[in-house]
Amino acid sequence: MAEKHLLEIKNLTIHYQTDYGTVHAVEGFNLEVGNGETLGLVGETGAGKTTTAFGIMQLLPEPAGKVVAGEIYFRGENLLGKSKTEMKKILGKQIAMIFQDPMTSLNPVMTVGAQIEEMIKLHEPGTKEEIKEKAKKMLEVVGIPAVRQDEYPHQFSGGMKQRVVIAIALSCNPMLLIADEPTTALDVTIQAQVLDLMKKLKDDFKTSMIMITHDLGVVAEICDKVAIMYGGKVVEYATKESLYTKPYHPYTVGLFNSIPDLDSEQDRLNVIDGLPPDPTDMPSGCSFHPRCPHKMPICSQKSPSKVVVGSEHHVYCYLYEQEGAL
Ligand code: SF4
Repeated sequence: MAEKHLLEIKNLTIHYQTDYGTVHAVEGFNLEVGNGETLGLVGETGAGKTTTAFGIMQLLPEPAGKVVAGEIYFRGENLLGKSKTEMKKILGKQIAMIFQDPMTSLNPVMTVGAQIEEMIKLHEPGTKEEIKEKAKKMLEVVGIPAVRQDEYPHQFSGGMKQRVVIAIALSCNPMLLIADEPTTALDVTIQAQVLDLMKKLKDDFKTSMIMITHDLGVVAEICDKVAIMYGGKVVEYATKESLYTKPYHPYTVGLFNSIPDLDSEQDRLNVIDGLPPDPTDMPSGCSFHPRCPHKMPICSQKSPSKVVVGSEHHVYCYLYEQEGAL
């Protein structure tokens, strides 16, 4: 396959087997990420964002989670054909991940310097001094003085801990960074600092990034492209500019309408009526139909197909199929 994109996901389907039945976490998911591009993966809790990330990295909890269909091409090679040993070499070195809560990512009984060194040692062998030097440099890159390398995670604030996690993730200069709500567990003032840092490092290191978030403000800050996920599928995909100029899918429109407007005199926030679908019992047809203000009889019968509504902008919704896209 020609290597047109750094990452290309085709028809990815991930199920979990539970005591309550099969959870359809991701269904026929398609996506591309270009070199140096940042893609925002946006949706409510349970939309399948994190499961998609774990699917890409082949870190789904076993034996419950399974990729039941699809292909994940990274640099032109299907990751789903790789053995565990081959994946170990790719993870950390070529694909790295940052999790929501830095406390669960860091080892509390190891110094932060040693944790960065450990990652470098795994993928880029060198002398002890060279590895130590590189770890110090990485701390400085994320704005932490190198003299703090022998301190433990509990001696750092939440924002500083997340900086250490970013240093570990970037220490082997990965081509793809997957960040799962990296600022959600932080105070609002610190969130902006960490986002600015990520934006700068992404440009300096020329890393492609998938930013998993429920926050359209984060997307506006850092992303080039956006994929809106609902019920385990991408329902709309666009460049950031195109999506913010005109969102098409009723779910995306609902997300934008629910952002508080400080200039408005309205005393109640707009919310999307109803609840996200139960993944063990997905609605038929378009999974948004039970909540959609525009639903038509066909919406509950058949899943809508992809409709191109602009350059690098497509949506899955019957409203545009019927009206010839616009
Ligand atoms: Fe609403 Fe139908 Fe479009 Fe789904 S396909 S978002 S139910 S109009």
